Amino acid sequence: MAGPSVSIDLDKTRANARSVTRLCADHGIQVTGVTKVTCGMPQVARAMLEGGVAGIGESRLENIHRLQAGGIVAPITLLRVPPLSGAEEIVASVDMSLNSEISVVQALARAAEKLGRVHEIILMVDIGDLREGFWPDDLLPAAREINEFPGVRIAGIGTNLSCYGGVLPTEKNMRTLVDHARRIEDTLGLSLGIISGGNSSSLPLVASGKMPPEVNQLRIGEAILLGRETIYRKPWPGTVQDAFVVSAEVIELKEKPSVPIGATGQDAFGHKPRFADKGERLRAILNIGREDVDVWGLQPVSPGVTILGASSDHLILDAGEASTSEVKDGNREAQADRVRLGEEIRFLPNYSALLAAMTSGYVEKRPTGRDRSLWPAGKLLAVGASPIFAERREWDVLESLGYTTMEFTPKGGPDQDLAPFLNEGFLPVLAGREPATVSGFSALSRHIAYREEGVPGVLWFAREPDIPRELLASELTHREALDVAGVQATRVSSENLVFLCLQHATPRQQDMIRRLRIETYTMEDVDLLGIREVVRNGLRKAASGTRGLYVRFDPRCADNGRDGLSNREVHLALELVALSGLLRGFDVSGYVPAGSREVKRLRHFVLSALGKRILSR
Ligand SMILES: *Cc1c(COP(=O)(O)O)cnc(C)c1O
Repeated sequence: MAGPSVSIDLDKTRANARSVTRLCADHGIQVTGVTKVTCGMPQVARAMLEGGVAGIGESRLENIHRLQAGGIVAPITLLRVPPLSGAEEIVASVDMSLNSEISVVQALARAAEKLGRVHEIILMVDIGDLREGFWPDDLLPAAREINEFPGVRIAGIGTNLSCYGGVLPTEKNMRTLVDHARRIEDTLGLSLGIISGGNSSSLPLVASGKMPPEVNQLRIGEAILLGRETIYRKPWPGTVQDAFVVSAEVIELKEKPSVPIGATGQDAFGHKPRFADKGERLRAILNIGREDVDVWGLQPVSPGVTILGASSDHLILDAGEASTSEVKDGNREAQADRVRLGEEIRFLPNYSALLAAMTSGYVEKRPTGRDRSLWPAGKLLAVGASPIFAERREWDVLESLGYTTMEFTPKGGPDQDLAPFLNEGFLPVLAGREPATVSGFSALSRHIAYREEGVPGVLWFAREPDIPRELLASELTHREALDVAGVQATRVSSENLVFLCLQHATPRQQDMIRRLRIETYTMEDVDLLGIREVVRNGLRKAASGTRGLYVRFDPRCADNGRDGLSNREVHLALELVALSGLLRGFDVSGYVPAGSREVKRLRHFVLSALGKRILSR
């Protein structure tokens, strides 16, 4: 059924983010992209991240869980100061939060200790806007007290302006913020990594070059999403203002008088309406109302349409002078100028209208443009896949996920054989009884090095860290290392290698992990933190600075939860891999399933890594 909708152009969002992050980067500022107005839509977060934001800021835990379930592995900061009662859930869900109450931080610290983590704290300072923040006189004593709590670390300070009091960010109040930071650093002997100088309203100060250089972070929502600074709501240079468009359908179109007939009392919302008499006008009623959107925050895209009013479910437009540029019918130009019954009328929402539309369960959300969540889905190359995908029926499942599939059995060196397929954009899935990790990774890595000038990371689900030496960059001889164009491109640097779900390691393997500082999560970590958190951390670490991931999954990690993972844990882990959008190659090679049940189990694991969920989208 066609109800109201909001369309979300992810390409425009990505480009807006790019503009804002470029400007900020020129001034030494990292951007935290704020998704709260979209209720934590993962596609929007992903577009922001591709546009260069360093992390995501969210105000609600529900939204944060949605982002994480949607495969966002970037660092997430909780923006709304936490409630005293929610400490444990917050520490379990995010790495960093903004804070303004000592006892809340104390509760966070206790929860963090209990969970064996360190939670990072940004101390908020109120420099005049009268929303959240320590009062300046109380800041230093508070920092001193908080600094003693184990379980939390003061990562920086921040402020929020233009929200409640409408106080503008200026060189002067930003300098005050920096001074507070310096005083904390000097008195407590700390180094504050983050000085967070506010939201979209701080961009004009950055652009003017007057932002103190010590301010190194901004938390930006509106300027990226709606392309406006928030002091005068003027379009922000280099951004577009129509990434979000609200639409509703004309359900009645009639000429009516502009003044109601009969004695008037209150309207549906308890107000006494007033009317100007403009005679008979063409009036359109749309199927959108106050239950869907803040109607006064809508701006019609077509000129000549004006909003007259709204009830819960109806928006009434004056379409008397309407012209819809979308309709082009040369023969009936006079008519084509008019709004028509059944037509979709489009509006640009302001922040408040967008917030309501995104929150309303009645408004359909339509992301458009390129979401790379299943990138590079489209073409799948099964290498030595039988018997996992032995039957036609199994290939059909892959096709229902949106893949076109192809099977390939390498003859000579798969390393070379794979190259043409990679060039055509195939995602390789390596299976079969022969171990193919060295050749599979080498081919992918070489491809990425030449085509995209980058490296892939490796996420390795392993019972034991028995990685072949030929894969490790650290094992290159000096001579090989000099041959940059050749061998080096086929190796993984220990920086971008992460082991997950280890069950044991020999003394030599332990030594390798320590020596090369390979990020490693054991089954003990899985017990302590949960599989979701472990995979999220692993994805983040393995992918940082790379062009996606080669994921090696040793099926022996899954032993129905005896010493390793349960089936459900494997599915969740691999679904997260798929959702991250980082997968460039998937490898279960060298393992021969024992019987048809084992084959089926492995097939379902592979499908999870390729994006299959219990309920398809
Ligand atoms: C919402 C919010 C932001 C982002 O504000 P925009 O005006 O959308 O840029 C930044 N910081 C905090 C604390 C917020 O709550």
